[in-house]
Amino acid sequence: AKRDGKATFHFFEQSLDEQARRRREMELDLRLAIKDGGFELHFQPLYSLTHERLQGFEALIRWNHPTRGTISPAEFIPLAEETGLILQVGEWVVREACHIASGWPEDISVAVNISPKQFTYPGLSTTILQALTNSGLPPQRLELEITESVFIADVEHTLSTLHSLRNLGVRISLDDFGTGYSSLSYLRQFPFDKIKIDQSFVRDLAQQGNNAHAVIRAITTLADALSMETLAEGVEDEQQCRILREEGCGSIQGYLLSRPVRAHVVQEMLAPRDRR
Ligand code: C2E
Ligand code: CA
Ligand code: CA
Ligand code: CA
Repeated sequence: AKRDGKATFHFFEQSLDEQARRRREMELDLRLAIKDGGFELHFQPLYSLTHERLQGFEALIRWNHPTRGTISPAEFIPLAEETGLILQVGEWVVREACHIASGWPEDISVAVNISPKQFTYPGLSTTILQALTNSGLPPQRLELEITESVFIADVEHTLSTLHSLRNLGVRISLDDFGTGYSSLSYLRQFPFDKIKIDQSFVRDLAQQGNNAHAVIRAITTLADALSMETLAEGVEDEQQCRILREEGCGSIQGYLLSRPVRAHVVQEMLAPRDRR
């Protein structure tokens, strides 16, 4: 038994070592990707149910790794946050998104995810202003998506950052709404332009008798009262779409409409509109 214990211990130690090695390797690769342009933005349509029209696209980053292929943000954004590299990655995302969106029709906006660390970085509004100026994208066509985790740090500071971003003329959305534990208090404190209802609530709509409809209704009623728009994420089928419409949700995003696509596919999606 003692021998087994020892063997297990060694195995455990080795795997921690292996983890640390992989992590360092990933960090180096991430630095290279920042230097060599190893990232790409994909775009997913945001569709207004209220106006029956395409409103814009959310920019979602992909890492084209030289040997491991495409790596999803869920895998590398946390590492980028821990290492502080998110500031450089995030700056690239804002610039690239503004640049690409400046070539779209003037009623089509772009939404960009801003991570918590990026949000607390004092240079954020300068970065955004520069990206807008360089691309010529009007500020009202840029939406910044933040999660309520930014409120954990320092509420005063968060509110002043939100107000200075708002003063640039950009729109601000509260992402993943309902997944934190006290979302309501944040809504009282800052007038978000839009609430993005987390996909977990949309998934629940498939099951009977779990009050999922009532939850959606409560969120859209609250948003209405606060003059905020609502968008439901992760909409995959017609039934979910129908219920969301009935419960007063303004917009949807999800595989029902389209998966995230490359910029040239966005051009194809937009082209028929131009010809009209
Ligand atoms: P998110 O901001 O909540 O983005 C929505 C995620 O849901 C995306 O995953 C999208 O591809 C996925 N999705 C969209 N429609 C559906 C659907 O109908 N069903 C399902 N199951 N999933 C759907 P993705 O692209 O892997 O991104 C994951 C997360 O990574 C994002 O969640 C966001 O938090 C983060 N992220 C992505 N791009 C960036 C970025 O440029 N900067 C930062 N800071 N974070 C990013
Ligand atoms: Ca988002
Ligand atoms: Ca989200
Ligand atoms: Ca999410």
